[in-house]
Amino acid sequence: MQFDLKAALSHIDLPDATWIGLREVREISTTRYVRDRQPQSNGRSLSHGLMIEVLVDGQFGYASTNYLDLKNIQITAQRAYQQAKVSAQWAVHSFAIAQRPKATGQYFSPYLEDVEAISPKELNALLIDICDRLKVSDQIVKTSAYAVITEIETKFISSNGSDIYQKFLTIATDYAATAQDGAIIQRRGDHGQLACCHQAGMEIFDRDLTLQKAQIIGEQAIELLNADECPTEATNLVLAPDQMLLQIHESIGHPLEIDRILGDERNYAGGSFVKLEDFGKMQYGSSLMNVCFDPTMAGEFASYGFDDVGIPATKEYLIKEGKLLRGLGSSESQARSHIDGVANARATSWNRPAIDRMANINLEAGEYSFDQIIANIERGIYMESNRSWSIDDYRNKFQFGCEYAKLIENGKLTKTLRNPNYRGVTNQFWNNLTRVGDRQTVEAYGSPFCGKGEPNQVIRVGHASPVCLFENIEVFGGA
Ligand SMILES: [Zn+2]
Repeated sequence: MQFDLKAALSHIDLPDATWIGLREVREISTTRYVRDRQPQSNGRSLSHGLMIEVLVDGQFGYASTNYLDLKNIQITAQRAYQQAKVSAQWAVHSFAIAQRPKATGQYFSPYLEDVEAISPKELNALLIDICDRLKVSDQIVKTSAYAVITEIETKFISSNGSDIYQKFLTIATDYAATAQDGAIIQRRGDHGQLACCHQAGMEIFDRDLTLQKAQIIGEQAIELLNADECPTEATNLVLAPDQMLLQIHESIGHPLEIDRILGDERNYAGGSFVKLEDFGKMQYGSSLMNVCFDPTMAGEFASYGFDDVGIPATKEYLIKEGKLLRGLGSSESQARSHIDGVANARATSWNRPAIDRMANINLEAGEYSFDQIIANIERGIYMESNRSWSIDDYRNKFQFGCEYAKLIENGKLTKTLRNPNYRGVTNQFWNNLTRVGDRQTVEAYGSPFCGKGEPNQVIRVGHASPVCLFENIEVFGGA
């Protein structure tokens, strides 16, 4: 990024502003999508602009521009200033410079091979080969291979001396096969739908590994055509990390967002069954439940060194031994709620203000191997890969469907089951957590599609989890 952000800051003339922050974002996103071995999309987009944040009369005002010229930046800063002045008339809280402490530092995504390591031609050829490998039989009626490569640079500087540079490289992939036999249609993807999301480099596209993966996905799609329906019963439910992703996201992440609890999101994303007075008191789940906000995990999708208002990122326990300790509240939400929070103020790009987001929310490993968990179950169901979800707007009652399941009988995985679903109520469900897998069972996934805010902000989240056993859960079949 060549633009002189410091010169821009020193040029802004707003004599009675308490604080000014500038956040420059430059994002290049490349999407390659092949369906039935035909290239569908080879898009590359660039987005580059500046968010100006001004604190005046105890209120933050925001304005953004992608016209990086000193005169226009002054006009944009005045818009942010006016917005803060106007909102001061209806203030719900008076903010201070304490919400924007000085911070300096850098962050770089870890990776082995940079984006130039594989040419567009080679990547398209690989995606076509993946489609070929997915089509293990004539009963495979659709194949798809999808890769989204995103390079993001952000700079943040402020009038009280913050100076932060971060550079991200993220890759999201999805390889999927749809199988059909008459009226029966089954889709099998690579751990669900676009769940393979990491901060990594082009080493992700290892030819042998991706083709092996594609072969298994194709074979499992066919296997599902001939599988039994998931039975309807209350039973032991074992969830793979690629479904724990969704379970953590919807029933821990969203309900703990402090802005939701404060009511900011009620009009759009909803509220939460959690109340401010529950922090420090509520038994959220069984004593085996340890959940962290952790943007420091190397390679996870939503890792970073600083949030988008310059707060240094640290790992923090949200839930320890089942007890609710801390919320997903940014510096503003912490000031408003008086609840301990985290460095989670994030914006989808340069043209949005930062709000309370999830980043990485991870469930910590326990002590049982996968085989030990299964061996202790007389009857149960093991489910993999999210397919569908429904949860009320207080994030309490939910119903989730998976792509692939196995029956567990007398300590062994037996028949494959199709159309597996389960339902529950958040606290009750997490209180039924009775076995947590060890480190060998932990896998990290993510999503580029967490939506929130008006205007909408779709953002990256990461979730790592071991395999988990929940007792006495209602499971059922059906599409
Ligand atoms: Zn979400």
